[in-house]
Order: sequence, then C-alpha cells, then structure tokens
Amino acid sequence: MFIYKCLLCGYELYYEKEPENVICPKCNKVMFRIKPPMKLGEILVLLGLIDEEKIEKALNIQKKINYHYPIGKILVKLGLLTSNQLYRALIIQRKALLGTKL
Ligand SMILES: [Zn+2]
Repeated sequence: MFIYKCLLCGYELYYEKEPENVICPKCNKVMFRIKPPMKLGEILVLLGLIDEEKIEKALNIQKKINYHYPIGKILVKLGLLTSNQLYRALIIQRKALLGTKL
C-alpha cells in the first residue's frame, strides 16, 4: 500500500501499486508519499532540484565515507545543491513524516 498526502490541504490518496507523480485533486499541487516515507533524494528529484544521477553519485560517496553521514550534506558539499534547497526539502520530509498516522 502506498499513501500520498497533499501537504497543503492534507488530502490523502491510497494506491496498491506505486504511481507516477500524484497531483492533489483539490490544490493541483504535487502530493508526497508518506507510506513508505520518501527518502530525501526522492523529494529532491520530485521538486526538480536535482536529477537521479547526482543522487546516485552522492549515495556512492556516502557508502565510502559513512553510511550515517546525511546525503543532503554531501550534495551541498559537492556543490550540487544549495543549503536553501536542502532546507526546503528537509522541511517537506519532516511534514510528510508528521503526516503519517499509521
Ligand atoms: Zn491539496
């Protein structure tokens, strides 16, 4: 089961299979997956801030240095993402996590 939530109005949609981009029927804004929770990289790609290739690059570096070192920090250090963009994505991730009632 995949659950998507609109972070503006709180509307939720349920899917048996993972869908492509989901748009809120009320707000016309992109909805975020809350179950299973989205990874930061997925949020960054969905926001159009970065492409998957760059995420992969950062994930490879993360594997080499320390699995617990935040992927967002690596992207900023590589100059692939600004601190503001990272902050924006982290806020969305937090909101999506708080939206999980299950
Ligand atoms: Zn909405």
